[in-house]
Amino acid sequence: MNINDANGGFPILVAEDDPVARKILKRTLITEGHEVVSVENGRKAFDLFKERFFPIILTDWMMPEMNGLELCRAVRNHQTSGYVFVIILTSKDSKKDIVTGLTAGADDYVNKPFNPPELKARIKTCMRILELERSLKKANENIRILSITDPLTKCYNRGYIMDRLPQEINRAIRYERALSLVLCDIDHFKKVNDTYGHQAGDKVLIEFVYSIKQSIRQELDWIARYGGEEFLIVLPETGPEGALIMAERLRNTISKNKFIVHEKAFHITSSFGISGFDSASSDEIISSEVLINVADQHLYQCKLEGRNRVKAGFVNKDISLTFNDKRSITDE
Ligand SMILES: [Mg+2]
Repeated sequence: MNINDANGGFPILVAEDDPVARKILKRTLITEGHEVVSVENGRKAFDLFKERFFPIILTDWMMPEMNGLELCRAVRNHQTSGYVFVIILTSKDSKKDIVTGLTAGADDYVNKPFNPPELKARIKTCMRILELERSLKKANENIRILSITDPLTKCYNRGYIMDRLPQEINRAIRYERALSLVLCDIDHFKKVNDTYGHQAGDKVLIEFVYSIKQSIRQELDWIARYGGEEFLIVLPETGPEGALIMAERLRNTISKNKFIVHEKAFHITSSFGISGFDSASSDEIISSEVLINVADQHLYQCKLEGRNRVKAGFVNKDISLTFNDKRSITDE
């Protein structure tokens, strides 16, 4: 989330019951390039805050309805998408009052009547902290992406399957939807490495994933490297019949891709084992292990029958599907 605008200003929520002070505060902050929304008490500020996130809140202490301390506590107890820097404006400057304000969750305080250069300097401090928070969040997000990505093909990795697949299964069961897995494997991949070298092998893997990514639904389906030259495609809202058609299209596309290494052209083929269920027709609890296992059995069957083919089955029905030579779906 980008919390500050292109000019480097931040959205600031001001709560101050004195109209003159409120106006001066607003003007001071606007000249610094910030977007300022001002209200006359803590209650209005908090209602607004619940609707829209403000990274900076500048609040008076003494206000009707909800005072600055109560606003502070309410903001701290509210779930927010980022850190909120709260500055309390106060004419109370005894050590005890300052401690009370900071204990309520304020990050800083400014004495009233406020001195504009001091207020601007305090806001600059809080901007530095918010910028730091933003860069930490970005770094964390990058680490998270790296931890779930296969470095070569840039699809998800096996760790991601273990984490995400059970969630997909639970979701499909809860909403009585279909779900399918396609376990696919590049045929005779070792031969590619042995004949053309590992760089060519890497290129094949990268292009294989690219072809798959081009044919799956961007927001819904996903692909992960299961191991070596085996990949798992997860197709929510799709039964094994639909997955079979999709995989057959993929098999066909991949077999037509031409690879050129050191001016030598070659083709690859691939095999697809599919498993899936439609939880609208069954109350059975299905595990990731069972679903992957059934897909793996179908993949193994493809290999036995000569590779370059697609086989599918339901995990909760005794039906197997395959493409015959006329490219139609038949019960085995
Ligand atoms: Mg007041």
